[in-house]
Amino acid sequence: MGELRDRFWELPLGTLTRPEWEALCDGCGRCCLHKIEDADTGEIHDTNVACKLLDTGTAQCSDYRNRKAFVPDCLRLTLRIVEQVSWLPSTCAYRLRADRRPLPDWHYLVSGDRDAVRRAGVSVVGRVVSETDAGPLEHHIVDWPSARRSRYAQAAEEEEGA
Ligand code: SF4
Repeated sequence: MGELRDRFWELPLGTLTRPEWEALCDGCGRCCLHKIEDADTGEIHDTNVACKLLDTGTAQCSDYRNRKAFVPDCLRLTLRIVEQVSWLPSTCAYRLRADRRPLPDWHYLVSGDRDAVRRAGVSVVGRVVSETDAGPLEHHIVDWPSARRSRYAQAAEEEEGA
């Protein structure tokens, strides 16, 4: 990974270098889940079905470098795409920064803790099924909860006291 500027995540999204852009991702894995669009209303429904390349135990892509070869329609997020799509979760770091909002306290760049995204209830780790096992997507529509700051703070306090 190239050089990252000090507190680069507070800089305008459009000014980030490629390594900074890549480092901004919180690793939640939610953009790797299938969505269903209602043909009548255009409404997007979330599911708990993951792309076949997503490691459901870590929320990491199992072949990020070669993913387009296996999943041709996998999107590489760009500023333009972030500004255009409606399906990125409200917690997504790219969405937040595109809206000029700060990263949450559980984001690893702020907390220094890669696991905080899971404790904040945002990560898909252990909560999704691979598309190779799922069956019909319509059976897997879910409401993903928003991150709860208090939950993360509470978990961190409990661990400190343990
Ligand atoms: S939803 Fe946003 S922050 Fe989460 S994994 Fe996808 S790009 Fe990264």
